Amino acid sequence: MKLLEDKILAEGRALSTSILKVDSFINHQVDPDLMNEIGKEFARYFKDCHVTKVLTIESSGIAPSVYTAMHLGVPMIILKKQTSKILNSNVAQTNITSFTKGTSYELTLSLDYVNENDTVLIVDDFLANGEAATGAVRLAQTAGAKIAGIGILIEKSFQKGRQRLIDQGLNVYSLARVARLDEGVIEFVRH
Ligand code: 5GP
Repeated sequence: MKLLEDKILAEGRALSTSILKVDSFINHQVDPDLMNEIGKEFARYFKDCHVTKVLTIESSGIAPSVYTAMHLGVPMIILKKQTSKILNSNVAQTNITSFTKGTSYELTLSLDYVNENDTVLIVDDFLANGEAATGAVRLAQTAGAKIAGIGILIEKSFQKGRQRLIDQGLNVYSLARVARLDEGVIEFVRH
């Protein structure tokens, strides 16, 4: 998606050969016009997949997911990284290793909101090693839902996440595919 690639080139910062900082429009400050266009594009791509819910991981996946859900006309579900006292016991949980933090955390889905009648689209900001997306898939499958696909804003194509998801038979649609990062260098996979 040219709009997203242009924004990454204008405002993204490669902190190393593996980390891209996009705090000014995705991770800290959010660009709502861009998120709206992203939501429109995911809704266009997955329009025939009978999506009933959009699933995302808090917190950076929420903004693009709200717009995706709005354009698909379905609810959005947030997978929680922190367990809350007000969540009842009807939950599914799975352990995820965080790529950026190097620590692991428990991801929680309330089974009140996803069940075997659902077909979910999973949306997240980054795809690195595929830990977060694979965890989201596991939770949706525990709830009995079908997976329409995975929508990713920024895929780091030099890491193994895409292949890992494709090996599970999943439809992965990434709006920007980064081929290489280095200090001051951001290169995209050629279309
Ligand atoms: P994975 O689970 O695919 O290994 O990593 C994806 C998760 O790690 C995303 O949810 C995202 O929050 C975070 N992440 C991975 N790589 C980057 C990166 O280069 N920049 C930022 N800002 N987050 C990243």
